[in-house]
Amino acid sequence: MATEAGVAIVTGGSRGIGRAAALKLGNAGYTVVVNYAANETAAAEVVRDIAAKGGKAVAVKGDVASEADVLALFEAADRLGTLKVLVNNAGIMGHQNRLDEMTTERLRRLFDINIMGSVLCAREAVKRMSTKHGGSGGAIVNLGSAASVLGAPSLGVEYAASKGAIDVLTIGLGREVASEGIRVNAVRPGIIDTEIHDSSGIKGRVQMMREQIPMKREGKAEEVADAILWLCSDQSSYVTGSIIPVAGGRC
Ligand code: NAP
Repeated sequence: MATEAGVAIVTGGSRGIGRAAALKLGNAGYTVVVNYAANETAAAEVVRDIAAKGGKAVAVKGDVASEADVLALFEAADRLGTLKVLVNNAGIMGHQNRLDEMTTERLRRLFDINIMGSVLCAREAVKRMSTKHGGSGGAIVNLGSAASVLGAPSLGVEYAASKGAIDVLTIGLGREVASEGIRVNAVRPGIIDTEIHDSSGIKGRVQMMREQIPMKREGKAEEVADAILWLCSDQSSYVTGSIIPVAGGRC
């Protein structure tokens, strides 16, 4: 049985920003589906932490780049109750390079996860939430990035481009389903202290970036999760197609 708030899927809910969002959604009374790619232990910990506070959560393994895995993820959520929230959070960054140093394989993998994963999950969420399909509405929150504004030259323009796609998905889908009870928004994090930076190949990247941030500090996953929670809540009932920077003033 779902708890009163309904079911919330958090893709990449095992670590970083997704973990923080999953914990807050669990506290807010959602039955949380904690999706993860590989780190079963981390996902199980999130489920345990939610349960320890009286909430309900399940971990579901699945690669958002795989349509079969996405369908299985949403079917698992269907078994728990009515889907009310999708946090489209799963994403990768990768080693920092110029575009002319990147293999096609790397580019495809990143676009498959960051763009196709989010688009497939959004499609499945709309099928369930839209009043047009007999649903009762809901909220989709996408994870953009300050990179879509800054472009990340020499640091991963393919990542920045993938997040540009997320911005457009947010604006377009937000308008497409605005009259069907679904709000679609995004958060645009700046430099947030999570393990994603380990893949950049630059040791201490987060600390190195501090000087470039107007607030002179990196953000915490919880600070992004607070904005995500607000966008999922009725307190943002007139907000759709919007992108909220959570970047210490950097973008
Ligand atoms: P993170 O700490 O590296 O965590 C990534 C999460 O995504 C993990 O739970 C991981 O699962 C999951 N994941 C990775 N690939 C997946 C796949 N193919 N299918 C399903 N799940 C997958 O990342 P983060 O920093 O929290 O970033 C979360 C989102 O915020 C991303 O979209 C990222 O682009 C965006 N963002 C982050 C920052 C930042 O500074 N941290 C800034 C701007 C935007 P496993 O645990 O199983 O590996």
